[in-house]
Amino acid sequence: MNSKTEKSIRESLKDKKRVVIKIGSSSLVHKETGRLDLPKIETLAREVIDIRNQGKDVCIVSSGAGVVGRTTLGIGKASTLQEKQAIAAVGQVRLMMIYQKYFAEYGQNTAQILMTKQTMLDQEGRVNARNTFEELFSLGVIPIVNENDTVETYEFMFGDNDRLSAIVTALIQADLLILLSDIDGLYTDDPTKNPEAKFIPEVDVIDETLEGMAKDAASDFGTGGMATKIEAGKIATSAGADMVIANAEDFRILHHLIAGEELGTLFHAHPHAFYMMDFLKKL
Ligand code: GLU
Repeated sequence: MNSKTEKSIRESLKDKKRVVIKIGSSSLVHKETGRLDLPKIETLAREVIDIRNQGKDVCIVSSGAGVVGRTTLGIGKASTLQEKQAIAAVGQVRLMMIYQKYFAEYGQNTAQILMTKQTMLDQEGRVNARNTFEELFSLGVIPIVNENDTVETYEFMFGDNDRLSAIVTALIQADLLILLSDIDGLYTDDPTKNPEAKFIPEVDVIDETLEGMAKDAASDFGTGGMATKIEAGKIATSAGADMVIANAEDFRILHHLIAGEELGTLFHAHPHAFYMMDFLKKL
């Protein structure tokens, strides 16, 4: 790692024009109950609005339809696909209601965009979706994106929202993707199991060694582990965006990151032949 390069790349995060922020389900709820952590969501709203107030376009990719639906209906784990999809239908609208309430308190308009894999595979669908995002940004609105869990034929087709957020980053040509997770960033091994695990502050190129390090330790409420974050990194960096994996424990980390502080793991952008379509076709 070259600390001079690291510093200037970190500082360049201040100049980003369009930022996608991915929030996992486990970062929105109390671990013990699975119920929404409201003060935390309010902090998130303030942080995101402030990034918008700095003149950047901001888009949130938020999970949570499943966990919010389950707690709303008082259902444990769903056993069938239709149960899962019905739960997500209830949870998504509840989640958006809460987001909208907090964003509206600070006078910020939000919009809901529910994505499907089919939309992304279809040329016209992609263009339409991109135009909608562009229009929302020009209106000063913050889009809040999730997968359309309720109508996706084969359920949760993007696999998880880490990948979805990278696909959105590529679609809207954002220059920064921030994945907020329940871990500080990338380690050489699972730090909860191996005390020798070392933190990796910066990744220039995602290679096989690095992919091998990414143990798939999914958290309780979400679906993404480190391996899916690396997959997201490949999509986002090849589409020309830098990506940061950082800890969602305190959402105030967002303004520290945007100010160029060395937090989390930063993956450098390496724009090259479009990886996203190959990836989508394999899903
Ligand atoms: N779309 C799912 C939900 O909102 C979450 C998928 C994920 O967490 O990666 O519950």
